[in-house]
Amino acid sequence: MPETEESTFAAIAEIPTGPHFASYVPEDRTCCRFCGEALRDLMVDLGMSPLCEDFLTADRLNRMEPFYPLTVFVCRRCYLVQLQEYVRPEDIFTEYAYFSSYSTSWLDHVRRYRDDMVERWGLGPDSQVVEVASNDGYALQYFVERGIPSLGIEPAANVAQVAIDKGVPTRVEFFGRDLARRLAEEGVRADLLFGKNVLAQVHDVNDFVGGMKILLAPDGVVTVEFPHLERLVEEQQFDTIYHEHFSYFSFLTAEAIFASHGLRLFDVAELPTHGGSLRIFGCHDDDATKPTTDRAEALRRRELEAGVLDPRYYRDFARRVEETKRRLLEYLIAQRDAGKQVVGYGAPGKGNTLLNYCGIRTDFLDYTVDRNPYKHGRFTPGTRIPIHPPERLRETEPDVILILPWNLKDEIAAQLSYTREWGAELVVPIPTATVLK
Ligand SMILES: [Zn+2]
Repeated sequence: MPETEESTFAAIAEIPTGPHFASYVPEDRTCCRFCGEALRDLMVDLGMSPLCEDFLTADRLNRMEPFYPLTVFVCRRCYLVQLQEYVRPEDIFTEYAYFSSYSTSWLDHVRRYRDDMVERWGLGPDSQVVEVASNDGYALQYFVERGIPSLGIEPAANVAQVAIDKGVPTRVEFFGRDLARRLAEEGVRADLLFGKNVLAQVHDVNDFVGGMKILLAPDGVVTVEFPHLERLVEEQQFDTIYHEHFSYFSFLTAEAIFASHGLRLFDVAELPTHGGSLRIFGCHDDDATKPTTDRAEALRRRELEAGVLDPRYYRDFARRVEETKRRLLEYLIAQRDAGKQVVGYGAPGKGNTLLNYCGIRTDFLDYTVDRNPYKHGRFTPGTRIPIHPPERLRETEPDVILILPWNLKDEIAAQLSYTREWGAELVVPIPTATVLK
């Protein structure tokens, strides 16, 4: 075995795996939600922030807002990057107003996913597909369309009903070992079991992955997508941190978590979504039909070489985040000193972490615009910047437009090409404030 592979396995062996850790139930809010180690190593403190999807109506402007700490820790044993539990999950997810089907680029993404999975795993009328956190059936509708038996699991009743009305069978429940056991008793075994952007929002990660183990057919495949920790750390994407996201995963830590529940990650794909995500592929650890791919080996090696399992990898993140803040404020101050009108584009959840951490209110941004009609007439949480429809840009012809959903900057720059008519500057805040050419 070449030396690099030996060192790979030596480092992985240091991550805790096995049934001891799988039994950990995260009741203690100051312990790692995977391995139970006390959380002592601070990665970054983003100060106090309100819940990032809590957009204010005008009648709330004279009232106080709840703020919670936004402090990120890295576990010194398993290197899971995580928030302590500052907000109870019930307080975040009971009134879930996000409907996945509103985003056309996201629908294209899931349709391609359907095509890839059907072809690669030969799915057909005898297969069973299950999606965890299936939302309004945005993804499963494409499997149903192909006549593949599908089941969604979605705890938000209003969103699940939309899926059911579309013909996507959906159970209105939280997913975990308990539901997985009941489904298995009913004879449901998933040939393809997937979750998109749910793992980061799971409080009890062991119950969730343990449930996947139970529900997966003997030769079935699990796929899970999440924002990649490596992109967060290396590109100062601190604004992807918010209370709704409890955990931030590297491939190596995800591998350790799945391994502790008897699931082996045999493949991985790097995706451009959300500023850089991973789609991991898992199977039962005794499934010999799915050899580990070169892509998985290469990513594992790349993360090890980058130092993902080394405390030093996380140490200067906070300093670099502060630097990002200073550069952005310097830029905004210079624009304001020159008498320019500066506004925002977009009111995404991530924008609110950025605005609150940097202290950007209407002293820097007169307003922001968003395409989602739900947000029009509302105000950004904490910073209280008014949100208007995009037409406002043409009416006021601002000098500078700060693009808050920077992960979509190319798409947005194309949409905003008309603002060049009056010479507007388009700016992205991260990793360092930059004017788009
Ligand atoms: Zn841990």
